[in-house]
Amino acid sequence: MPLIQLLSVTKNYLDNIHSGVSQINLEIEQGQIVSIIGESGSGKSTLLKLIYGTLVPQTGQVFFNGVQIMGPDEKLIPGHNHMKMVTQDLTLNIYAKVYDNIAGLIPNINLTEKRELTLQTMDFLRISHLADKRIVDLSGGEQQRVAIARAVITEPEVLLLDEPFSQLDAILKKQLRDDVQRLAKYLNITVIMVSHDPVDGLSIADKMIILKEGKIICDGLPKTIYQNPKYAYVAKLLGKANVFINSAITPDKNQAYAVYPHQIVLNRDSKGIPAKVKNVYFSGNLDEVEIVYENLKITAYDYLNQNFKQNQPVWFSINHFMEVN
Ligand code: ADP
Ligand code: MG
Repeated sequence: MPLIQLLSVTKNYLDNIHSGVSQINLEIEQGQIVSIIGESGSGKSTLLKLIYGTLVPQTGQVFFNGVQIMGPDEKLIPGHNHMKMVTQDLTLNIYAKVYDNIAGLIPNINLTEKRELTLQTMDFLRISHLADKRIVDLSGGEQQRVAIARAVITEPEVLLLDEPFSQLDAILKKQLRDDVQRLAKYLNITVIMVSHDPVDGLSIADKMIILKEGKIICDGLPKTIYQNPKYAYVAKLLGKANVFINSAITPDKNQAYAVYPHQIVLNRDSKGIPAKVKNVYFSGNLDEVEIVYENLKITAYDYLNQNFKQNQPVWFSINHFMEVN
């Protein structure tokens, strides 16, 4: 039995079928890291709240361990007892110390245990050195860690994260992704995280769900979805893909194809299809090169730092085409 199961769940706001989510079928196994990806407004937070039980489906059912989840009207404390949700507004006590913010969630039944558990949780999230600092004196990434520590200290079975990475820089994102992975692995917590940036989910998720306009359009392993995107939309969302429709340079003119920028090889020496350099963006280890071929703008990565310049002639070849709808 899956830990969490959604059966044809629909939740629209104010009877507007273009809001919320529609006809969601989803199964999540215990211990999985699930990444829900979608543009702003695609229904990610709605889906998370339906799982947490703070929103009730209009039709369909949500099950936790085979038992239907109760809605907020049927519960004294909102949210499922075995789940914890961390959202962007972190609800920390900003003038209290880190230690007290975390310890405050544990009842005063056994003070030694309370202290030990708090120290352990801070250690696990690598915030022990911040114990005596006030929340207001922490960086965004540190605050995010405290919020997650608060969520996991009560040992939930499921941790729901609503855009936990959105305000973090690249290095902090990587650290937090690592934390989430350790939570799932060592504490055996099922993690469902929501993001508008697919990079957050590609590396650590066991299962990736792509939402578009309130519907699940892809559900599977991140690598499989990335390598075989069903839709042009998905390829664009996951990897800045170029889309070719009715193009003479593709294997079949009646089929649409997506091509990631790394699947295009650029040459300076008349090898391949002739085009013109439109823009070059230096990105450290590679140059992102925008070229124009017949009225089509194509993005390619130049890993060889061939030093392309605007308006120069360029030749390209495509080494992989992905059929898309
Ligand atoms: P996401 O988290 O992906 O940005 P949401 O789940 O918050 O998306 O919202 C999905 C859609 O439902 C959006 O079009 C949004 O405007 C609409 N929506 C969300 N919450 C409400 C609400 N309380 N009342 C009316 N419409 C809402
Ligand atoms: Mg949201």
